[in-house]
Amino acid sequence: MSNANDYQALNDTVISNGYCVGCGACAVPEESPFTMNLNDYGQYEAVLASDRVFARASVDIEKVCPFGSGAPSEDQIGKDLFDESCDYDSQVGYYQGTYAGYVAEGAFRDRGSSGGMGTWILNELLDQGYVDHVINVRPGAEGREDGSMLFAYTVSRSTGETQAGGKSRYYPVELSEVLREVRETPGRYAIVGLPCFIKSVRLLQRQDPVLAERIRYCAGLVCGHLKSTRYADSLAWQMGIEPSRLETIDFRVKNPSAPANRYSTSAGSADRQEVVPTNELFGTDWGAGAFKYKACDFCDDVFAETADIVVGDAWLPGYVEDSKGTNIIVTRHPDIQALVDNARQEQRLELDDISVAQAIQSQDAGLRHRRISIAYRLYREQREGRWVPPKRISPSKHLKPRYEQKRQRLRVRLRDLSHHAFIGALKDRDLDTYLKAMRPVYREYKKHSHSWMTRYLWRIKGAVKRCLRLVPGFQRL
Ligand SMILES: Cc1cc2nc3c(=O)[nH]c(=O)nc-3n(C[C@H](O)[C@H](O)[C@H](O)COP(=O)(O)OP(=O)(O)OC[C@H]3O[C@@H](n4cnc5c(N)ncnc54)[C@H](O)[C@@H]3O)c2cc1C
Ligand code: SF4
Ligand code: SF4
Repeated sequence: MSNANDYQALNDTVISNGYCVGCGACAVPEESPFTMNLNDYGQYEAVLASDRVFARASVDIEKVCPFGSGAPSEDQIGKDLFDESCDYDSQVGYYQGTYAGYVAEGAFRDRGSSGGMGTWILNELLDQGYVDHVINVRPGAEGREDGSMLFAYTVSRSTGETQAGGKSRYYPVELSEVLREVRETPGRYAIVGLPCFIKSVRLLQRQDPVLAERIRYCAGLVCGHLKSTRYADSLAWQMGIEPSRLETIDFRVKNPSAPANRYSTSAGSADRQEVVPTNELFGTDWGAGAFKYKACDFCDDVFAETADIVVGDAWLPGYVEDSKGTNIIVTRHPDIQALVDNARQEQRLELDDISVAQAIQSQDAGLRHRRISIAYRLYREQREGRWVPPKRISPSKHLKPRYEQKRQRLRVRLRDLSHHAFIGALKDRDLDTYLKAMRPVYREYKKHSHSWMTRYLWRIKGAVKRCLRLVPGFQRL
C-alpha cells in the first residue's frame, strides 16, 4: 500500500534525477497519482499529479519501478523464476538454451528486423493455444500533426495482428494503457518488451494478482538503449521529411547486397517515401548514443534477464554477413523451450546451438558499456551528490584504458546535447542547428575512440602517405 510519501519518494529519486525510462508501470495501479506524459525531448516520463497525491494505491509504488529504491534486482527476480530449470551466467542471466538462427517458415524472417523470432514466438504461443492475446508494439498513428505517436503497445488477438507488430521500433512506448486493458479483459496474455519493461511487468506481477495470473509469458528483446521520438524525427529530417510531416518510419530495412548490420532506414510522409542506408545518416552511431534516455546509461540488463525468452541480433562472424538477418536467442521457460525444440525438429526454425560465450560476444560493445563503464558513470553521478538507482555494479572511478574515461564523458555530453540541440532545431525550423551543435562533439568523441598510441600511429601513417604522394610514381596512394 502506497501513500503520499511513497509517491513523493519515487518522484524525488527516479523521476527528478532523470532515471525514468517511461515504462508506465507506476501509472498502472488503480488510484495511482502518476500519469504518463511525452516531454519536450520526445520521451515518455511519469508525472505526479498534485491533485491526486493523497490517493492510496494498492501497491508499494517504488517497488514496481525498474529503477526504484528497494525493487528487487534482475538477479533476484530471475532466481525466483528460473533457478530450477536454468543455469546462470553473470552477463546473460539464467539460460536453458542459447542459439543463433532464424525462422524458416512463413514470412517472419522477411518481415522481421533480424531472424523473425521476435514475432514468431508470440505467434506460436497464440497459435498453439498457450495464450489468447499478445501484447506487442504496432504502428499506431496517422501522422504527427496532432502530436500522436508513430508506435504504441496494443493487444493483438489474431496471428495477423501479431505479424503487423514485427520490426524493431527504436521509439518510446509505454505500458500503462495496455496493462489497464489487461486488467479489464480476462484472458491469457504474452507480452514482448525491452528488458526494463519486462522487469516492470514482473515487479507489477509480484504485487498485482490479476496481472500475475493473466500475463503468462514474457518475451524480451536484447537492448542497447532506447531512443526518444526525436531520433526518428532527426533521421527523417535528414531525408527531407520535416518532423511534423513524418507519418511512417522503418528503422530496419534489410539490404540484400550488404551484411545484416548495414541496413537502411525508410521514412514516409503523405507525399514522399525515402530509403537511405542508415550509416549515411548522422546520429546513427549506436555507441555515441544520440537521443538516448539517461536511464539507459544506468541500466545493467542487456539480455532481458527476467524474460522467458530473449531475442536479439547475432552480431557474430559467420552470421552477420547474411543480409536476411539472424537472431541470437536465449530460452528460460520450459514451455518456450518445448515450443522451440518442437519447431526446430519440424524444421520450422533453423537454429545452431551456440555457447554462452558466443551469446556474450554477440553483444560485446553493449555489455562493455552497460556492465563495465556503468561503474564510472555511477561514480561521476555520486561525486556530484546526485541520487543513483540501486545497481548490481558498484560505482568506481577506475576505468581502463584511460581514454575510455574521456569517451564516457563525451557519450554523456552527446546524449544530453542531442536532446537540447534538437529542440533548438525545431524552434529554428532548421536541422542545421542540431547538426552544427553535434558534429564537433562527435568528431572529438571519435578521436577518443582509440588509445593515444593508435592515434599517434595513424598520424604518422597519414604523414608518410602525404610525403609519398610528392614522390613521382606514388601519386595514387
Ligand atoms: C530499442 C531497442 C534496442 C535494441 N537493442 C539491441 C541491441 O543492442 N542488440 C541486439 O542484438 N538487439 C537489439 N534490439 C533487438 C533487435 O533490434 C530486434 O528487435 C531483435 O533482434 C528481434 O528481431 P526479430 O526479427 O526476431 O523480431 P521481429 O519479428 O522484428 O519482432 C520484433 C518484436 O519486438 C517488438 N518490439 C519492437 N519494438 C519494440 C519496443 N520498442 N518495445 C517493445 N517491443 C518492441 C515487436 O512488437 C515485435 O513483436 C533492440 C530492439 C529495440 C526495440
Ligand atoms: S515505473 Fe516506469 S514510468 Fe514510473 S517512474 Fe519508474 S521508470 Fe518511470
Ligand atoms: S537500456 Fe535498459 S533502461 Fe534503456 S531501454 Fe534498454 S532495458 Fe530499458
